[in-house]
Amino acid sequence: MRTVRLGQFVIAPFVVSDGTCANCVNGITTSCLHGASWGSEDADGFTVDGGQGEFVRVPSADGTLVTTPEVPDDSLVPSLLTLSDVMCTGHHAAVSAGVGEGKTVVVVGDGAVGLSAVLASHRLGAERVVVMSRHTSRQAVASEFGATDIVAERGEEGVAAIRELFDGIGADCVLECVGTAESMQQAIDSTRPGGRVGYVGVPVGSEIPIRKLFSANITIGGGVAPVRSYIEALLGDVLEGSIDPGKVFDSEMPLEEAAAAYKAMDERTAIKVLLRP
Ligand SMILES: [Zn+2]
Repeated sequence: MRTVRLGQFVIAPFVVSDGTCANCVNGITTSCLHGASWGSEDADGFTVDGGQGEFVRVPSADGTLVTTPEVPDDSLVPSLLTLSDVMCTGHHAAVSAGVGEGKTVVVVGDGAVGLSAVLASHRLGAERVVVMSRHTSRQAVASEFGATDIVAERGEEGVAAIRELFDGIGADCVLECVGTAESMQQAIDSTRPGGRVGYVGVPVGSEIPIRKLFSANITIGGGVAPVRSYIEALLGDVLEGSIDPGKVFDSEMPLEEAAAAYKAMDERTAIKVLLRP
């Protein structure tokens, strides 16, 4: 190994990547030519441990892991943990939708990724960030993360509410953070002509209406977040405390209760559960 030393604190993205192949060099580490997923097999056919365990063998550790300058204070661990997935995924949605200074943004979805997308948009200088959410506890986190407006309506009522906020036409940038057919439609219908949708929700049954996009010059970008490419850019902000994405964790459980943690997230009784070995 060249970059990782014994005793260092490391952040591991949700997939393995070597950092050197053509796709990694292009920043799409999720398409690493020698990549692997936790809990599957690596390129050589060896078992890759599941990521949630006391000890984990990391293939291509130099490419996969990001080290912190020193072992961080325990209070920073939740926020550092979000860099392995949800915060970088929300950031990817924002980048894919072209969020920047002065832009208007709508975030579809109030899960951990949606909330992270709010924070990422705020961080990138968005002028207005609307979160679509019906849960008061999630609305509160969204507001802490920089949401300026909350829309609780969904479907056609949701689209009408969004358009009313933005000159009757929709927002510049819409971040789709759910993955269902309904959420994708919500996202596209909330985007102004000439605007962009950034989608990071794993698609389940959603289709792209190409004719509608053609008619309104709406661009869709995004996909599975190449988290490894974003960690270093966001790490400094976490370490200096200018962003605190760890607030998406509203529950903490021991590793032995992982099944209960997933159940809580599935049943929406927790936004995101932090597991401790
Ligand atoms: Zn690679």
